[in-house]
Amino acid sequence: MLDIKNINKKYKGEAVLQDLSFTLKAHEMLSILGRSGSGKTTLLKVLAGLETADRGQLLLDGQDLSPVPANQRGIVYLYQEALLFPHLDVFENVAFGLRLRHRPEAEIKKKVNALLQRLELPEQARKMPEQLSGGQRQRVAFGRALIIEPRVLLLDEPFGALDTETRRSMQQLLKRVSKDLGLTAIFVTHDLKEAMLMGDRLGMMQGGQLKIYGSRAEFIADESTGAREEARFWTDLHDLKLTK
Ligand code: ADP
Repeated sequence: MLDIKNINKKYKGEAVLQDLSFTLKAHEMLSILGRSGSGKTTLLKVLAGLETADRGQLLLDGQDLSPVPANQRGIVYLYQEALLFPHLDVFENVAFGLRLRHRPEAEIKKKVNALLQRLELPEQARKMPEQLSGGQRQRVAFGRALIIEPRVLLLDEPFGALDTETRRSMQQLLKRVSKDLGLTAIFVTHDLKEAMLMGDRLGMMQGGQLKIYGSRAEFIADESTGAREEARFWTDLHDLKLTK
């Protein structure tokens, strides 16, 4: 579906993306794990059309994306701050993309209500953004993105601002919604467990280079992902009988 070939990007002479190549299949979620500063956000911005690559090729269903402006790519970029219109209620925030496309009222009602249901937001439909919790706001942001049925969803640490418990439930909700709707998405995070939980496939970004793993086992076996270290920690804790 998405075919990325030899993408390079420099900021003031500093290489931020180095010869990145990968493919994203339809209906899969690719998790990219990486430390802060490894180039994750830059990669997503290049895909979304918010930044341009110095070199390389971006193909979406065989179409070269480079001449296509950001708002016509069908690629939505979401990050941890849920950007909502403060003067519109939840329903209207989600409906926005359909109103922009002049869809009939009956269709808007039907689609928005179905999506609010899916995102466990029906009781919040008439609330204003300022009346919502962080997790609810993030769900409305998903609703705004999903209502226009994007071809690819780019998620940049979307749960980074949420507390641990809310983060857990949001991960599960997104996983469910993603399977149900067959989303095609890239999920970037610096959190190992989150990457492993969200991704159908796993990748790791280090110093502007991206490695995609053939399997979960391969990801775990690579010391640099930190997965083995995490496993060893729990084994040691268990052996020391500190888990009781
Ligand atoms: P991540 O999302 O993994 O934290 P980023 O893609 O935000 O990483 O940043 C990668 C590198 O590129 C960092 O060293 C950052 O300082 C640099 N960088 C990002 N955006 C810009 C910019 N607009 N101008 C100059 N340097 C930038």
